[in-house]
Amino acid sequence: MGEDLLTTNISYLTGVGPKRAKILNEEIQVYTYRDLLNYFPYKHIDRSKIYNISEIDANSANIQLRGTITGLRVTGEVYKQRLTATFTDNTGSIELVWFKGLKWIKEQLKTNKEYIVFGKPTLFGRKINIVHPELDPVENSKNKLKSPLQAVYSISEKMKKNFITSRVINKLQYTLIQKVYNAIEETLPASLLGELKLPSLKIALKEIHFPTNTNELQKAIFRLKFEELFYIQIQLLQSKIKRTRVFKGLVFSKVGSYLNDFYKHKIPFELTNAQKRVIREIRADLGSGKQMNRLLQGDVGSGKTLVALMVALIALDNNYQASIMAPTEILAKQHYESITELLDGLDIRVELLTGSSKVKHRRELHEGLQSGDIQILIGTHALIEDNVIFKNLGMVIIDEQHRFGVAQRAKLWKKNVSPPHVLVMTATPIPRTLAMTLYGDLDVSVIDELPPGRKPIKTIHIFDSKRLKLFGFLKQEIDAGRQVYIVYPLIQESEKMDYKDLEDGYASIVRAFPPPKYTTVAVHGKMKAAEKDQAMKLFVENKAQILVATTVIEVGVNVPNASVMVIESAEKFGLSQLHQLRGRVGRGSDQAWCVLTTSYKLSKEAKMRMKTMVATSNGFEIAEADLKLRGPGDMEGTQQSGIAFDFKLVNLAKDGNILQIAADKANEILKNDNKLENKDNIVIQKHLAKIKKNKINWGIIS
Ligand code: ADP
Ligand code: MG
Repeated sequence: MGEDLLTTNISYLTGVGPKRAKILNEEIQVYTYRDLLNYFPYKHIDRSKIYNISEIDANSANIQLRGTITGLRVTGEVYKQRLTATFTDNTGSIELVWFKGLKWIKEQLKTNKEYIVFGKPTLFGRKINIVHPELDPVENSKNKLKSPLQAVYSISEKMKKNFITSRVINKLQYTLIQKVYNAIEETLPASLLGELKLPSLKIALKEIHFPTNTNELQKAIFRLKFEELFYIQIQLLQSKIKRTRVFKGLVFSKVGSYLNDFYKHKIPFELTNAQKRVIREIRADLGSGKQMNRLLQGDVGSGKTLVALMVALIALDNNYQASIMAPTEILAKQHYESITELLDGLDIRVELLTGSSKVKHRRELHEGLQSGDIQILIGTHALIEDNVIFKNLGMVIIDEQHRFGVAQRAKLWKKNVSPPHVLVMTATPIPRTLAMTLYGDLDVSVIDELPPGRKPIKTIHIFDSKRLKLFGFLKQEIDAGRQVYIVYPLIQESEKMDYKDLEDGYASIVRAFPPPKYTTVAVHGKMKAAEKDQAMKLFVENKAQILVATTVIEVGVNVPNASVMVIESAEKFGLSQLHQLRGRVGRGSDQAWCVLTTSYKLSKEAKMRMKTMVATSNGFEIAEADLKLRGPGDMEGTQQSGIAFDFKLVNLAKDGNILQIAADKANEILKNDNKLENKDNIVIQKHLAKIKKNKINWGIIS
């Protein structure tokens, strides 16, 4: 019954009608009563407080005044007329200004009447005024005030043009709440409400639209945010439970000679404590009988490759094959080379498979994989193709995860009768809160320590005008035998903005660093793979000293001799991208530099990004800053997560604590009742069914 009422078409609500309904449908996706009820305000304005005119300045937010109009005049030329009213209280006066609807407003205003004025003070010339304020006679506003905290809703241009203002939405909510209040069904178990002292859904909805006071409003917001996060966590955990039920994990109980020999004889340095801890965490998974799905986060240069290799060796010790997958051919090749070198002298067959492997060689590889001769296969996407069949693949390691989607991960599970264990490695640090939501179905390990003896990279920010000085510095570094990266934003010919595109850049670099003394190569996304490889090879072999590139070098290349990373038009890059790029240098023992060049004109945000980069080289601090600046929707990796990030209320950058509580509670509930059959939990099951039907906030494959 209640359900029927809430699914009523919005056009039936008093005050809506077909025309407004159409606009609400199109502009804010409000189709039903429930949709409107869930159209939450983005802020509330305290209308309980009346300010004195003497208190306000141009920095005040929206404020409320009480007083009378003591003067009215129309000034300006015919088409630029404005109406100015002098508004006075006991403490002073201020000007109210209108540019539109002068005639009508002038008729409404009475000089001997008390008004409540509401608006945002601004500085005009040297005077403070309020442009287009809301104005209500005192006697009206008294009965109109339904709540001292007035909800403010986002309104599109089109809504505004059609007079559907925030106030109108507020009025509609008022009508609606009275009509449906008793039909609102609870969506959380009573025990949870009691335990966390959450208000019921009914009360929370009433309070968010019409707060009794700040305290009740906070409780309502907490409850609604909790609910959003709780249901995401429940779904993530359910898919994890389902997976562990369907798939049995291969048990790797042995530590054998492959790992031991490697560990004892082959590692030229001591593992960092973080590396040791992570390997312990992984080994615990591998022995548990559950299929591992673990995300390994570690800043650039933290030594993930070594961890990957050791994990692969554990698989070998248990008579399984392992494969390591990289996002590009260059990277796959690099892994192949460094891993064969590390394993030199141990009797292990390692092979490389990429898109450009020749047919004949491929055939050999396929045979070797099916017979089990090949123990470690390194490659690109090519190795998840269906015709690549392993004898007994036990471990898959995916490097630089943000180029791999969830769907590809799922494809890997089918590579063996029992799915292999999966370790996903990423150098894009993701704040904990985000990781929990993005990868709620993964366990997370973190390498939060760099190998000892690294010199921190020095980062500086300069303006374009300092170019000559920069070139001088680059010459100095190159003459000392080192190499330089110069990175440009992507080539986009169509955009005529002041992007310095790579081609101009390349030409000017060659002019400044003329051959034969200097060799400069360029790499960009529009080149063929073979050309790209050729250019990269020159740089990797130190036959070219300067690599001019777009962001294609972002991921993973390792040229320890490169000591300077110059990022041109750095303001065009996001923080995590800048950090990734910077990570390409500082891999050797020389002092490394990152130079961010920008124009003088910088947005406030761009300034913050440069400041953050100069201030810290800690990937997690940068990720947190990034999350705060951009919001999670734009974070790298979120697109691939499959989760819609259009939270109604939650802000992952700020609501980490609520997420933690929601995750804990979801965990606790599913642990005791994984089918949600207890009397108390039926409500969850019912609501989940509704979510799935409406596909609210949910699209992950499971
Ligand atoms: P990333 O995490 O970026 O993949 P790598 O695995 O490429 O980092 O490691 C970066 C460099 O650090 C490599 O040259 C590697 O040999 C070296 N390295 C890894 N672990 C250690 C360690 N514990 N001590 C010293 N150097 C290490
Ligand atoms: Mg790496």
